[in-house]
Amino acid sequence: MNKENYIGILTSGGDASGMNAAIRAVTRSAIYNGFKVKGIYRGYEGLIAGEVKELTTEDVSNIIQRGGTILKTARSKEFTTEEGRRKAYEVMKKEHIETLIIIGGDGSLTGARTFAEEYEDITCIGLPGTIDNDLWGTDMTIGYDTALNTIVECVDKIRDTATSHERIFFVEVMGRDAGFLAQNSAIASGAEAAIIPEDQTDVDQLETFISRGFRKTKNSSIVIVSESPKDGGAMHYAERVRKEYPQYDVRVSILGHLQRGGSPSAGDRILASRLGEAAIQALLEDQRNIMIGIRNDEIVYVPISEAIKKDKPINKDLIRVLNELSI
Ligand code: ATP
Repeated sequence: MNKENYIGILTSGGDASGMNAAIRAVTRSAIYNGFKVKGIYRGYEGLIAGEVKELTTEDVSNIIQRGGTILKTARSKEFTTEEGRRKAYEVMKKEHIETLIIIGGDGSLTGARTFAEEYEDITCIGLPGTIDNDLWGTDMTIGYDTALNTIVECVDKIRDTATSHERIFFVEVMGRDAGFLAQNSAIASGAEAAIIPEDQTDVDQLETFISRGFRKTKNSSIVIVSESPKDGGAMHYAERVRKEYPQYDVRVSILGHLQRGGSPSAGDRILASRLGEAAIQALLEDQRNIMIGIRNDEIVYVPISEAIKKDKPINKDLIRVLNELSI
C-alpha cells in the first residue's frame, strides 16, 4: 500500500468489549510502521456520510481498558445497496483512504467482501469483533471472552436465589445462531443444562434434564438458553415447564445488553492487540481482503469469503462435558 494514503478503521454491527483495544493496536502499529490512519465514525453509515478524522497515537491513549467503541458503531441499511457503497467509495477516494480495516461480525465482513469485489483498487482487512464467537477461521472473536465472564458472574448471583428458593431458572444469553456463549457459560457456572441452536433436539434436552437432574438429586436448577427468535428463547421453555410440570417453581432471567459492555478481560485485550497489530503486518505483506484470525495461538489469514461462508461448529466435547458434570 502507498504510504502517502491512509488506512481507514471502523467498527460495525454490535459493539464488543475489546474493540477499543483493537482500534488502539491498529493505530499504533500503523504509525509505528510509517502509515497514516483515519478513524471512521458510526461504521459504514459514517463512511457514507464522510464522518472521518485522522487518528494520532494520543487519540488512542487510555482506551485499552474501555468497553464499547470510541469510533461508535451502527447498522447501515444504505451500505447494503450498490448506491450506498458507491458513496462510501467516493468518500474513501476523497479522504485518500486506500485500505479499510473493519472490526465487526459476520454481517460487517459480508459487506466488506462485496465492497472489495466491487472496487478493486481498495483493500479490506477484517478483524473478528463479535461477542458471539461465530466466525469461521478463528478460535476466538474480540468480545467473546468478556461476555462469557459477564454471564458467569450473573449466573453465580442467580444461583444464590435459585438455591434459596428451590427454583428452576431459565437464563437467556445472546447468540442467535451460535451456542458458544450458552454452552461454555453453562460449563463455567456449573449450570445443569444448555439449550443451543446447534442442537436441534431441544425437546429431548429439556425432558432429559427435568427427569435426570432436577427430579432426582437437585432442589434447584439453572438452564442457560441461547436467545432464539424462532422458538421464543427462555420464555418458551419456562412456559413449557409450567404447563407440563406445574409442581416446579420456574423463573426466567434475560441477561440482555449487559452482556455486551464492560471493561474487556485481559484475554480480549491481548487478542485485540495481537489481531490489530497483525492487520498492519498483513498490509506490509500486501495481503488483501482477508480476516485476521487466531488458531492454536498463531495468527492466521482467512479469506473473508471463507470466514463468512462457513459455519463454525461447536466442539461436541463441550456438550458431553456439561452432560457428565451436571448430574
Ligand atoms: P454482530 O455479530 O455483533 O451482530 P455483525 O457485523 O454481524 O455484528 P450486522 O448488523 O449483521 O452485524 O452487520 C453490520 C452491518 O454490515 C450492516 O448494518 C450493514 O451495513 C453491513 N452488512 C451486513 N450484511 C451486508 C450485506 N449482505 N451487504 C452489504 N453490507 C452488509
